[in-house]
Amino acid sequence: MSPAAPLYLDYAATTPADPAVVAAMLGCLGPAASFGNPSSAHLVGAAAAAHVATARAQVAALIGAGPQEIVFTSGATESNNLAITGAVRAAADRGTHIVTVRTEHKAVLDVCRHLERTGCSVTYLTPERSGWLRPEQLAAALRPDTVLVSVMCANNETGVVHDIAVLAALCRARGIAFHSDASQAAGRMPLDVECLGVDFLSFTAHKLYGPKGIGALYVRDGSRARIQPVSFGGPQERGLRPGTLPVHQIAGFGVACELVRQGLPTEAPRLKELSERLWAGLEPLGGVHLNGAAAPRVPGITNVSFEGVEGESLVAALPGLAVSTGAACNSEARDPSYVLRSLGRDARLAESSLRFSLGRFTTPAEVDVAVDAVSAAVRGLRERSPARAEPPEGLWEGGSAVVRGEAGSQPEGTWVRFHLLVEGDRVKDARFQAFACPHTLDTADWLCTRLRGRMRTELPPGAPADWAKARGVPVEKLGRLLVVEDAVRAALANWT
Ligand SMILES: *Cc1c(COP(=O)(O)O)cnc(C)c1O
Repeated sequence: MSPAAPLYLDYAATTPADPAVVAAMLGCLGPAASFGNPSSAHLVGAAAAAHVATARAQVAALIGAGPQEIVFTSGATESNNLAITGAVRAAADRGTHIVTVRTEHKAVLDVCRHLERTGCSVTYLTPERSGWLRPEQLAAALRPDTVLVSVMCANNETGVVHDIAVLAALCRARGIAFHSDASQAAGRMPLDVECLGVDFLSFTAHKLYGPKGIGALYVRDGSRARIQPVSFGGPQERGLRPGTLPVHQIAGFGVACELVRQGLPTEAPRLKELSERLWAGLEPLGGVHLNGAAAPRVPGITNVSFEGVEGESLVAALPGLAVSTGAACNSEARDPSYVLRSLGRDARLAESSLRFSLGRFTTPAEVDVAVDAVSAAVRGLRERSPARAEPPEGLWEGGSAVVRGEAGSQPEGTWVRFHLLVEGDRVKDARFQAFACPHTLDTADWLCTRLRGRMRTELPPGAPADWAKARGVPVEKLGRLLVVEDAVRAALANWT
């Protein structure tokens, strides 16, 4: 990566393919490579089929499965769809009740929501405040008509690890199928489907240094009758996933699994140490919360909420870091922080959270750079926050009067306070404090330059629509500038 590229600490979103993975993929692309269709009866097909067989064994080995138990899919989203929809279809004569958890990935929750519309009933369990699901909670939710339970191994936002072996055993004892989304666990912690006792397990290549667009669903040998296909068109993959196998993707996935399996004994403790270094660096800031701290967590995922800073501004202040955020701004989800809120964090704290996810190429020096950048950003934003009663600088001296006016509130997400240094009927200087989004901060800052030197009769300088135009604030954010206007007007009202 070039020095100007952002520091990548978002390995839970995706990982770069390892160079060995890329090499394996290239070996299956192009006229001189094993480009064949593995279903073909001729030698070109057989060469491709050999690559698939090797990869299938590598993928299976990562989770302690047999190669015949691996069904290749396009990724964990598809694996989850197939497992949940397919298991519910297979059990249609026995019941329609599903149990899952509120903190699951959308690739589980949205499938359950869809099935609810087709007549299933779904229980969404709320884990403890730590993010951990107590096995007794699951036991209490199981009913005679429960046909499927889906609980993830490790949470993608907090890294919290559920006790899958215990949860799955509860289900097995009652004849209920058990699925787990292991997308974040695979490659970060040892997984063995025999110890876990699950029927179905989803995982995906691009979270473990493989390519995007390929994943797997583990289907236990004895559980094939517990799942039906959801798409049709060929006998491939035990009749569960038709279509020509993407040999290059599968070959890359295989090598990726092999590498993480071999590296795990040293990589897991290394990532744990780096995560501890990160938290040790951030904790002294004060007003910081390690989300999921009281629960077992997977190494390398650290989710921190920062008091007294607005989420979008925190992200905007960290252009050199590629991390995930609870703030709504750069997330496609309508409800990006539902995981943290279900752990009892209020909306503000959920939004002012950052997920640092470390991986194979993360170094201690990078962690230190991140700590320094985040500390500077948090301190800078807190300087302006409502927690500080005094203006950022002590320049309001002499015999002149200072008038102040504020509007909005921190719980609502926008708060602004102007400080005007006035002399006679003129504004000599203007400053502001705010807990607000980057647009609001920018507009308030710019407005201070427009306030300076103005006569009282010339105030306020224009209206929010003019300011939005001048500062390029998108129309949908215009409402926030009303708080800025209210704060200016409040200051003028206090000018007696
Ligand atoms: C990334 C992720 C998914 C989606 O995986 P894709 O392969 O991108 O479809 C599903 N569940 C969890 C927990 C994830 O982290």
